[in-house]
Amino acid sequence: MPEFYQFNEAGNMKESAPTRCPNGHPLGPNTVLVGALPCLCHPPATVHRTWRCTACDACMTRPEGSRNPEWTVWPSISPGR
Ligand SMILES: [Zn+2]
Ligand SMILES: [Zn+2]
Repeated sequence: MPEFYQFNEAGNMKESAPTRCPNGHPLGPNTVLVGALPCLCHPPATVHRTWRCTACDACMTRPEGSRNPEWTVWPSISPGR
């Protein structure tokens, strides 16, 4: 998966993210690979955030992407609403 890379930004860990994968594994700093994919959708989003469970390799994404429809879409939580 050449387009998938891992972030190493410790300062970004406060960003809202899933706490459990679709199969129920708890997701934390050592159990999830956070990445981003450039968007090729029409119309385009800016970027797709991805979370991959290291236990079962399930992948979640936000927003929904047309390239990987099999991925679970993780709905955005808007703070302050
Ligand atoms: Zn897209
Ligand atoms: Zn999992």
